[in-house]
Formats: sequence, C-alpha cells, structure tokens
Amino acid sequence: MMASIGSPLVTEPDDDGLSGYLPGLNPRASMIGRRIDPSGVVAYPLRNEPKGKGVPPEPESDRRILLDNFTRHKGMKNAGGMKGESDRSLAPFNIRAFRNNQLTGRRALPNPTLTGEGDLMATGIGGPGMFSVQRNILSPSGKNRRLTTLGATNFMPLLNPRVQVNRKKQVASWPAEKNEHLWMAGDYDHDSLQALIDPEADLDLLGMEDISLQRGPKGHAVVMDDRTGLPLPHLSYTVYDLLDPTISGKTRWKKENRDYRDVDAGQDWRETVVGPSKIGGKVTGSIDPVLRIPQRLDAGVGVPRYTDETGYRFHGIPVPPNFAAHEGELGIRRGIATPGKGLFFRPEDLTDAGRDVFETAKRNDVIRLSGDSFEDAWDIAKARFPGRKREWGQPGEMFFWESRLGGKLPPAVAYDKGGGGNRDIFDFVEANPDKLEQLIGPREDRFVPDYPLEGMEIPSFSGSKEEADKLALFGNPNKMPGISMLDMPMHTCHITGSGACEACYAAQNKMAFNPAQRKYYRNKLASLEDLPGMMSAIQERMYDRAMKTADYSRSANPDVRGKGFIRHKASGDFGSPEEFSAVFDLLQQQTPEELRDLRHWISTRQYPYLMEAMEARGGPQEDFLPENVNIRVSLPPTNTMPSKFSDLELNPAVSTSGFIPKEFAVPSDMNEICPATIHGNQQKCDEVIDPDTGLMGCRRCFRRKAPVNYLEHGSRLKDLLENAYARMSQNN
Ligand code: SF4
Repeated sequence: MMASIGSPLVTEPDDDGLSGYLPGLNPRASMIGRRIDPSGVVAYPLRNEPKGKGVPPEPESDRRILLDNFTRHKGMKNAGGMKGESDRSLAPFNIRAFRNNQLTGRRALPNPTLTGEGDLMATGIGGPGMFSVQRNILSPSGKNRRLTTLGATNFMPLLNPRVQVNRKKQVASWPAEKNEHLWMAGDYDHDSLQALIDPEADLDLLGMEDISLQRGPKGHAVVMDDRTGLPLPHLSYTVYDLLDPTISGKTRWKKENRDYRDVDAGQDWRETVVGPSKIGGKVTGSIDPVLRIPQRLDAGVGVPRYTDETGYRFHGIPVPPNFAAHEGELGIRRGIATPGKGLFFRPEDLTDAGRDVFETAKRNDVIRLSGDSFEDAWDIAKARFPGRKREWGQPGEMFFWESRLGGKLPPAVAYDKGGGGNRDIFDFVEANPDKLEQLIGPREDRFVPDYPLEGMEIPSFSGSKEEADKLALFGNPNKMPGISMLDMPMHTCHITGSGACEACYAAQNKMAFNPAQRKYYRNKLASLEDLPGMMSAIQERMYDRAMKTADYSRSANPDVRGKGFIRHKASGDFGSPEEFSAVFDLLQQQTPEELRDLRHWISTRQYPYLMEAMEARGGPQEDFLPENVNIRVSLPPTNTMPSKFSDLELNPAVSTSGFIPKEFAVPSDMNEICPATIHGNQQKCDEVIDPDTGLMGCRRCFRRKAPVNYLEHGSRLKDLLENAYARMSQNN
C-alpha cells in the first residue's frame, strides 16, 4: 500500500526552487512522484551537491538518474593494502551503494516510516538508514567519468553482488563518528533502476521468487523468505561493537558505548587490521562482512555465531567480501542489499565458490584458506600422528577420563545450570580445542595414520577374541539395525560442515555422554596409532558381531532376514584418505559368507578424502567395491554435490543423502524422507515401513542409489544458534 509522506514534505518549490524533501533533512532528496512506501520500498533521485558553502543543489539535477549513459566500473583490488576500496572479486559493476550514516541533520536522507503525523525527528525517521546509489557517469564538464551519487533507496537488488571495503576508512571510523567504508556493488540495469523509483512500475527483483520486501519494527528494510517466514540469509556488518547493546537512540553508537578489542589477527583472505594509535591500536566491529543465517528456535529466531581464538564472539560468521575463497571469484549470483541488514540472498543463488563458504559458515566456522578450501587443506595435512603425550590422563588434560591412560571417568553429576550432566568429555574438548589438537593435530596440519593409499592385505589378528573386541570397539547404534564401527568423536571431524553436520546427532543425547565419548576417543586414538592393527581386529570380529544381531524370524522382511548390518561412522567422520583406504581393504577382502550376509552403510561428508582414496584405486568410475557396500555421501544444504566432486556419483557404491530442517520440508520431499525422522513415526529403522518395499523394517540407507533425506529434529541447533531475531543486527 502506498502512503503519503504527509505534511512535512515540501511540496512547493522553496526559495532555491527545491521541493520534495523533508524540512531539516537533506534537500537533495526529490521524493514527489517517486516510490515512497512507508511499509516497503522507498526510492527516489538525489540532486547534485555543488561545492561551496551554502550553495544549494540544482533543482533539475535530480534528472541525472534518468540518463542511461553510464558505464561499468572495474572492481579493483585497491590502491594497495589498506588504502582504498577493495573489491576482491575484481569484477566490473555498474552500480554501487553505501549506507548514508548521517541519521540527523541536513545530510540525512529521509527514509519515511510515517504517514506524516508527528515530529519526524522524535520518531527517529532517519534511523533505518538509506543507501546512496552511484553510477559511473560523465562529469559536468563531460570530459571524464566518475562514480556519482544519483539516488537513494532502502532496497537495492543486485546481480553479481559483492561487498567492497575501504580498510583505511574503516580503521579511521573507529575512534570517530563518520565512515563510508563499506559498499555494496553489482549490476542493475537502467530500466530496472527507473522502475525502482517509479511507483507505477513493477519492481525488478531479478527473478527472485517467494520473497517479500518488508520493514522491520524500527523501519529498517528486511527481505523475507515467504517459504519459511524467516528473513533470507544475509551478509551483514557491524561498524562498532557495543558495550551495552540494549541502549537505543543517539547514544547507542557514541564512543562511550563502543567496545574495543586487540588487533585483529586477520583471516586468510586479508591482512591483519590494526586500529589507530589514539585507541591503542585496538579494533571494533566485525571487520569483514558476517554471514547471518536466520534459524527458527524454540525461543524465537537466531543466527549462528562465530567465536575466534581470542574468545571474541561475532554476531554471524566472518566471510570474505566476495563470499568466495579465491580472489577474482564471486560467491553470490543475485541478492537484494539493504542499508541496515546487508545483502539478502537465497542459498540457491550461490556459485560453487560461494557454496563452499556457506557450508563452512553453517558449521559456525570461517573458511581458513585463500586457496581451495578442500584440496589445499589436504595438500598440507600429511603430518603423521606423533604419539601419546605424557600428560594425557592427568586431571585437566586430554584423556583425563581414560582409565587406560591413568585417568578416571567422571561420575554423572547434574549440572548447576541444569541438565543431567554426564557430558564432561564433550564439554571439555569443546572448551579446550588446544588440548584436542594434541590428538588430531592443528587445523592446517591434521595428523593422519600410517596406511598405504593403494591398499594392503590386512594382517590376520593374532590375539584372543576378547582382545580383538577391545580393539575393534563396535557400537550398537540405537536407531539403526546391527552394529556400528569406526565411530569417532564429532569434535575430531576435520573440515567444513554440511547440513548434516549442523544438526549432528552425534552431539546429542547419549552419543554426547561420557561412556560413548570415551569409546569414540579410544577409536580415534587406535586408528591414529595403528590403523592396520585396528582393521585386523575389526576383520576378525565383524562377521560374528554383526550376525549376532541378525533377525532370523519368519516374519522378518526378506531384505532383513538373516542379514548382519554394519553402519560405518555412526558418529564422526573419516579423518583422512588413509582411513578410507583401510575400509576399502576391509570391504574388498571380505569372505564369501561376509559378502553374502553382511550389508555395509558408510556415511561421510569428507568428499576430498573419499575422492583421493578412490583415485588411488583407479578413480571413482571404477567399480571396485563389492555389492554389499553403500557409501552415502551427505550433501550440503543446497542438496547438490559440489561440482568438483560430482564424479564420486559415478561410482556404483556411492549414493547421496540430504538434510532438511523440519521447518523447510515440502510435500514433494516426503517420498525420499527417512521414515524414522517423520514426526509421529517410530524412530528406529526396524520399526518403520521401508518406502521401497512397503514392509516393516527400513533398509533404504543400505540400498545403492536410493536417495534419502533426513529431517532434522535435534537440539544441536540450539547449541549453535543464539537468541532472538530482534538482536540479529547491531546496525539498528
Ligand atoms: S531411511 Fe530407513 S534405513 Fe535409513 S535411517 Fe531412515 S529408517 Fe533407517
């Protein structure tokens, strides 16, 4: 609904011939006959800004926005290091926008939230902020071109969007009030921009479907996803950290309310940032754009946060301005930028490069590598496990819970903060990543076991059954049939997450409890210390242990009767291609009875490790695994395989599984949904109907090339995501 701005608007030309602005605010605004929707889009031309004190804008200069004589401007790295605007994508753009931070006075751009009654300033009309929009047009002399401010809007649709940061201005803004250091740039054609300011025209939203352009409680622009009722994911930004974020009004952003921290050690995509000497070199704000992915929680709506090594907690996940690991790439194809909340986009509109960043961020982590975030990680991750540390098993040290190392498993004592306790190990490693790294190696140099990628003959186990059982450490997964093997702690998973990681059930319930964690850490340690020995124990006992769980009853589903089911990695994931190689050997060296009676389901998110192990056996196109094996690869949230790993699907033993938060499931998904994750059903494979056979006892995950999606119901999101959407941005 279009509403008038009302009585404050200057409707007749004033002494300078200007109209269409609001008294007390910027007279450059030309709002009469433009798109002014107090509950939606506000877009209008801006007049020029002649130099000279007291020189008013020229009345007709608002027509510059109608010109189509503009050119694309090349995105540039910058004038060197910290000096100028940096466009890490290096891609040309035809429009850019920066948030006008003058919220009051003669430079403030009106962002009408009212229909005109009342005192504009008292109602905070400037608060939501407006973009100043620039195109590269000819200068008044007609001799050269320059980026010139032509209009203002609170919604700016952009193709090929990226963030540009001027580090110099960013740093200068920290002890001061003013800044123009963050820009949104991309493409929006001439007709589309005309339609944006024309209230009679259809908005060009670049084909983005099922979205609504709305205004938040304070009038700021927000792009909502009609499918979910949540705001779309967005790249946002915080200029200053605040000591007291509950303060509102003018004093909210004052220096006295700013929180400073030590120099920012930098992400891999940029240099370290040091603040001005007048504030002791300290820094404030999010430095880089932060990705915010709104999620519905029981308590409201929250976004994943990131905590850096210093313990600083970012309101979102820091991401590169081009949303891609590499310089020269663009991570987002289209989106809608807003002044207060940033750039909104749909995950479907990510490029392959952007998807990598998105997946990593969903794990509330940051991408670490300026090169390929998967392969580079692996190229340098060849450090061999250096062996146990002497202090392990001592109180406060790694394995303090492990009796085999002199430690003691803590009793299950209820926590003061609530809950039944029994998560001491889980909580310890979460709080002490440095101790965990003693076992798995530093992030950029994870330890790997000694095992040949091309494979080997697994040696026969030479000890007793009991000794083999003790080393093989099979599990009995509650939900799934049969036994599990090579279960590992979720905290030892190596790299980026997927939807499956985010909702990792290995972080929930009994799997996070001390006895289960102790078992997983024993497995991890054994696999690093002596993988061939561990495989030899597994090979020794796998058949007997799995067949003990087999259902021989006459009523059993034929797919189930007399079969032993083995789930690999019911918790955790593969830590190296070597580990895959060891499992391949185990599977290839099965006896005829094992091939006949056992069924293996291997789940993984480690595409690069799987790929490397398969390459060592002739490539993923080779059919080298026996038919009783199904490797189920967890897809990222977009439910498409990253293109660089798509060849994995050539392998007959590889199928995929997706992950859908329950709020996001649509009816067409339901025939591929794991029945045990559907609300109201039993939660065990044996107690639900197999969608393929129609018989009780589902085994779809063991079946090759049968797609499966899991609905997420778990509580892990609550651990990862925080608080209500009302606190989603400190930019208000
Ligand atoms: S799809 Fe079937 S086999 Fe797979 S986890 Fe769900 S119920 Fe079990």
